[in-house]
Amino acid sequence: MAIILDGKATAAKHKKLIRETTAKMARKPGLAIVLVGDDQASHVYVKNKIRDCEECGITSYQHNLPAATTTEKLLALITTLNADSSVDGILCQLPLPKHIDESKILCAIAPRKDVDCFHPENIGLYMVGTPRFLPGTPAGVMLLLDEYGIDIAGKECVVVGRSNIVGKPQAMLLLQHHGTVTICHSRTPDLGAVTRRADVLIAAVGVLHLIKANMVKPDAVVIDVGMNTNINGKLAGDVDFEAVEKVASHITPVPGGVGPMTRVMLMKHTLMAAGK
Ligand code: NAP
Repeated sequence: MAIILDGKATAAKHKKLIRETTAKMARKPGLAIVLVGDDQASHVYVKNKIRDCEECGITSYQHNLPAATTTEKLLALITTLNADSSVDGILCQLPLPKHIDESKILCAIAPRKDVDCFHPENIGLYMVGTPRFLPGTPAGVMLLLDEYGIDIAGKECVVVGRSNIVGKPQAMLLLQHHGTVTICHSRTPDLGAVTRRADVLIAAVGVLHLIKANMVKPDAVVIDVGMNTNINGKLAGDVDFEAVEKVASHITPVPGGVGPMTRVMLMKHTLMAAGK
């Protein structure tokens, strides 16, 4: 049976460390959280982030805007937050309503306050190996691997998924840690043939239980980024956990794996944006 990579416990440890740091700060770090519209999932994510802030001693400033908010109105708020010295980090919860120019909004956030690392300047910085911030989910995965003493150097790493927020930056971070990296996607003809090569397999797809036991090399480290709903309406990953845990050496559960690590990275970045 595989060792469970416990993201919940690891994130709790790091939140405690953040809290110990903020407790000594004369001015608490501030995170502005902008939420536009009524998307239920987004409201839950924001509620969790506000709770994380409370636990970490970070002041959160919530800005809930109606779904009909225009790009211009949202840009005006971002400009105000960029200039507000009590705000160290700005997070704009995605997805934004379709009529809003998402790219324009993300590029308007001051790079030094871009704690989600979506600004092209920050993407460029980590691409060349001099990061200001890192994208939260891939960075959370790297921190979890590190906490369990899993060294990437020289390993065959396979990332399934090539999105800008998970797959691509995950591959880049693995490469920077000296892995030999392959990226798969929906046009990869024989996915199993590639995933079976992986010493470290990362699934970031959004397809329930896509990764079966026969697609995993014995003793591989398996990281499940996926967040899907199973037939019982429960949160479940891209990996068929019950079968794969019998093959893998290490595996992340869903929930309790990558999700909490993503959230704690946001807190770490807000602390960094405040100069710590
Ligand atoms: P996304 O933008 O939809 O990208 C999904 C990727 O999977 C795409 O590159 C797509 O390929 C690829 N793909 C789709 N079907 C495939 C298949 N059958 N075989 C191989 N590749 C396939 O999703 P995302 O934003 O990266 O998120 C991926 C998953 O992670 C989702 O479940 C999301 O909810 C979850 N997530 C979790 C966290 C967390 O904190 N735990 C954070 C972010 C995202 P193409 O490019 O060819 O279309």
